[in-house]
Amino acid sequence: MERFICPNMDTCALVNKPGFTGNEALKKKYMKDYCHASESRRNRCKRLIMKNTYHFCPDFVLPDTALTPDEIITKFDDENFNNN
Ligand code: SF4
Repeated sequence: MERFICPNMDTCALVNKPGFTGNEALKKKYMKDYCHASESRRNRCKRLIMKNTYHFCPDFVLPDTALTPDEIITKFDDENFNNN
């Protein structure tokens, strides 16, 4: 059986940052449902979409985050650059 692997696997914080999802069961679920899923499924991962579109992905983004990429950028800017 072919094993799918996301091209972002080596650098993605969800995979590589300890404690990123808060618990191992959730990390395993995301990895099964996205990182090792078929290309069509993986391409729905919001972290991969952000990486491919903006070349970075904030840590608050999970594969199934409901925000659009533009909304993610706005939230990131609000959290990091708007102090008012
Ligand atoms: S969380 Fe998304 S971007 Fe990260 S390795 Fe898995 S499929 Fe790729």
